[in-house]
Amino acid sequence: MSNKLNWIDEELQNLKESGLYNKIRTLSSPQGAWLVVDGKKVLNFCSNNYLGLANHPRLIQAAKDAMSDFGVGPGAVRTIAGTLDLHLELEKRIAKFKRVEDAITFQSGFTANLGTIPALVGKGDAIFSDELNHASIIDGCRLSRADIIRYDHADPNSLEKVIKENEGKYRRGLVVTDGVFSMDGDFPPLDKITEIAEKHELIMMVDDAHGEGVLGEGGRGIVDHFGLHGRVDVEVGTFSKAFGVMGGVVAGNPRIIEWLRQRGRPFLFSSAVTIPDVAATIAAINVLEESTELVDRLWKNAEIFKREMGKLGFDTGKSMTPITPVMLGEAKLAREFSRMLYDQGVFAMALGFPTVPEGKARIRVMISAAHSEADIEQTLSAFTKVGKALGVI
Ligand SMILES: *Cc1c(COP(=O)(O)O)cnc(C)c1O
Repeated sequence: MSNKLNWIDEELQNLKESGLYNKIRTLSSPQGAWLVVDGKKVLNFCSNNYLGLANHPRLIQAAKDAMSDFGVGPGAVRTIAGTLDLHLELEKRIAKFKRVEDAITFQSGFTANLGTIPALVGKGDAIFSDELNHASIIDGCRLSRADIIRYDHADPNSLEKVIKENEGKYRRGLVVTDGVFSMDGDFPPLDKITEIAEKHELIMMVDDAHGEGVLGEGGRGIVDHFGLHGRVDVEVGTFSKAFGVMGGVVAGNPRIIEWLRQRGRPFLFSSAVTIPDVAATIAAINVLEESTELVDRLWKNAEIFKREMGKLGFDTGKSMTPITPVMLGEAKLAREFSRMLYDQGVFAMALGFPTVPEGKARIRVMISAAHSEADIEQTLSAFTKVGKALGVI
């Protein structure tokens, strides 16, 4: 037998020994406040289903109706024969929802970043990138072959400093940041970051995957939260989180959107978003445009949870959104905490190094509008029990 793949066994063994091996849990229920995970019914604090839309009857019905009319698969890439009326309707509706001029959809948020960044900058250009940006931004930056210059997390002064240090060295430049950072639940002062980008004539891009459906009026996102419509050139988003479906979007400057229709590689070389996904996403926009009820409930749940956790003596870090880290310190403690919560019927992930800095391990609690007050109460008592047992509080 050939030995050429032995290195994989060794690497996997290394991962297991260092506690970095991903054990993938399996669900046998729809997304929601409660899940059946590996056969056990647990309260869910792991999903990005912020508004409970992933299993919403209106989205399901819209997907079914669209499949009856148009089938399932798109059959082609968007630029050949894969663009349906429905795709254009979604793009128009999401642009209007976000109060910007135009939008283009991709298969996912990940491909939106991979397609957009290399279309905007290349060799001889500079990308000014927040040091904690998401993996898909980092990969998009690498693909572009532009120089990547990192600035301190969410720090406009650091951004301005590195821009000045590099003035005149590059053809053009891009500033890129996550909207909401999903490890801490914080977001940057996007108004100040955008001002600096404008002052230095740099393209301004934000990836608002965790801000859509959460921040801004009725969940219109971080650009709406700061009132930066027309000033942020590129707003990447995903339909896989608060919107409860799947798909990516770039909204913003119409010249850039038009350029991406010509040069966004995943748009040209990977098939269009599927019909049920498109229809369900339009239904999600309908739900959000009709009422702010779900967004309001999400924030109310988060406020109650954070307030009560604070009273109990837990440290919820620098969260500014419903993503609530419970800071514990050592990775081993966080893992044990998560395991004990799970025994109590509460499913919440432990995050440790290298996902977060060493000594900053935590349980990340993803609050959703799907949770009832009783769910939150039950979770608080589980945290109390485990916190006391492990000497955290
Ligand atoms: C989740 C996430 C993505 C990827 O979105 P998908 O639509 O799931 O591919 C991209 N960027 C950020 C910041 C994310 O959090």
